[in-house]
Amino acid sequence: MKIVILDGYTENPGDLSWEGFESLGELVVYDRTKQEDIIPRIGNAEIVITNKTPLDKKVFEACPSIKYVGVLATGYNVVDIEAAKERNIPVSNIPTYGTAAVAQYTFALLLEICHHVGKHNDAVKSGKWTSCPDFCFWDYPLIELAGKTFGCIGYGRIGQNAGKLAQCFGMKVIAYDEYQNKELENENMRYVDLDTLLAESDVISLHCPLLPSTNGIINKDTIAKMKDGVIIINTSRGPLIVEEDLKKGLVDGKIYYAAVDVVSSEPISEDNPLLTAPNCIITPHIAWAPKESRKRLLDIAVSNLEAYLSGKPVNVVNG
Ligand code: NAD
Repeated sequence: MKIVILDGYTENPGDLSWEGFESLGELVVYDRTKQEDIIPRIGNAEIVITNKTPLDKKVFEACPSIKYVGVLATGYNVVDIEAAKERNIPVSNIPTYGTAAVAQYTFALLLEICHHVGKHNDAVKSGKWTSCPDFCFWDYPLIELAGKTFGCIGYGRIGQNAGKLAQCFGMKVIAYDEYQNKELENENMRYVDLDTLLAESDVISLHCPLLPSTNGIINKDTIAKMKDGVIIINTSRGPLIVEEDLKKGLVDGKIYYAAVDVVSSEPISEDNPLLTAPNCIITPHIAWAPKESRKRLLDIAVSNLEAYLSGKPVNVVNG
C-alpha cells in the first residue's frame, strides 16, 4: 500500500519520526508540493496525507486509486470532502492537538506586550544599562495583569484554557460564545453579550472559529465600542479582524497594542496593513507548533489511518 505525504515539512521539519506511517505501508514524503505536481506525485497511491495542499475534484478524478485522505490539521477546507464522499473516500482530520500550546502562546504574546522582555534584553546588551544613571530603567510602560479583565470571543477548548491562565494571573474573565456552558461560570468568569465584552475588556482575545458570523468581527464599529487603550490578541484566524480597521485603531491610539499570530492571507503579503501598524506584534502562525503538539498531531494522524485500515475509520469529516 502506497502512502504519499504531500507537504510534511511544517509538521515535521526533521525533529519527529515518520515511522508510524512507514510501518503501515510504502511511504513517500514530500516537504511541499506545487499545484502542478499534486496529481503526478499521488500517482497510484491509495493513501494521501495533506496539510495545506489542496485536493479538489480533479485530483480525485485523475487519481482513482485514492482510498483514504488524512489531513494533518484540524481545518480540512483544503479537501473537497463532497468529491471524496462521492467516491466513498473517507477524509479524517485531527480534531484537537494543540489546545494547551495555543492558550500558552496567547499569554506569550500578552506578556510580551506587558513587559517587552526581548526589547529590554536587547537594550541591556547594547549597553543602555551599563550607562544608566539609575539602578534600573524601562523603555515601555510595564503592565500588571492582576485585576484586569480578559475578554474571550469564543470560549471553547482554547478559550477556556486561556481563561484559566488569565484567572491564574488574577484577571477576571468574561466570555462571549454562541454556545454557553453555564457550569464554567464562577466568581471570576462569566458569560456576557458581545457589546458588554467590548465595553469591559482590558484585553480581548479571539478564540472563535472563522465562520460567516465571525468574519471581520473586529472592525471599526466593534473597535469603537472598546475601552480606550485596549489590547487585542488574535491566535485564531486572520480574517476575524478587518486589518485596515485594526491599523487605524492602533494609529489613533484607541488600541494600545495588538499581537496577531494569524493574518488575512498567509504567508503574509507585503502590503498587509499590519506590517506598518504601530504597536503591533506579528508572528508567523506558530501557536500550534511546539514539538509536543506536532508529535500529538502526528500520533493521531497515524492512529486515524490505523483505524481506517482496521475497517473502523475515526475522525471522519465527510461521513
Ligand atoms: P472550539 O471549537 O473548541 O471552540 C470554538 C468556540 O467558538 C466554541 O465554543 C464555539 O461555540 C464558539 N463560537 C462559534 N461561533 C461563534 C460566534 N459566532 N461567536 C462567538 N463564539 C463562537 O475550537 P478551539 O479548539 O478552541 O479552537 C479555536 C480556534 O483556534 C480554531 O477555530 C482555530 O481557528 C484556532 N487555532 C489556531 C491555531 C494557531 O496555531 N494559531 C491552532 C489551533 C487552532
